[in-house]
Amino acid sequence: MPKTIDYSKLRIIPDFDTQEWWEGTRQHKYLVRRCNQCGHKWFPPLFPACGKCASMDIGWFETAGKGVIHSYVVVTQPIVGAFIGTVPYVVAVIELDDCKEADGTVTRVAGVLTDEDSEAAIGLPVEVIYEATNDPKIVMPRWRITGRVAGAWNFDEHEARGGGSRNS
Ligand SMILES: [Zn+2]
Repeated sequence: MPKTIDYSKLRIIPDFDTQEWWEGTRQHKYLVRRCNQCGHKWFPPLFPACGKCASMDIGWFETAGKGVIHSYVVVTQPIVGAFIGTVPYVVAVIELDDCKEADGTVTRVAGVLTDEDSEAAIGLPVEVIYEATNDPKIVMPRWRITGRVAGAWNFDEHEARGGGSRNS
């Protein structure tokens, strides 16, 4: 089973640019920024202007919270105390299904999978889930694998090390 994150060791303080996003996760809504002029979407919501048309007339788009793993990394050395008991865990970059634009632009987001690192593979479908934290105002989105796909690419550490074990 995937190990848990010790949220008692994480202090998340929403700021001016992110407070509406955190309000969204509290309501189990996964939001990305959207330009009200040209429709371009982006994440994270830190820059308050459209990267395509420079408009500052911006709002939010509520995604369905479904996508595909574009890339991932397996974290084995925790640098934040909250993750000491969580390693190894997977941080994935996810392409959102409903954020594809006409010119090929796709909005990508990052998140921690709930699945084992051996289960992760590029190309697999995922969906967001919402995890309670110690702070009732902060709900953390995480992602879980929802299916298997032929040809999905998985980094096999045993293969890469010539069959050696993880600890060798
Ligand atoms: Zn725009």
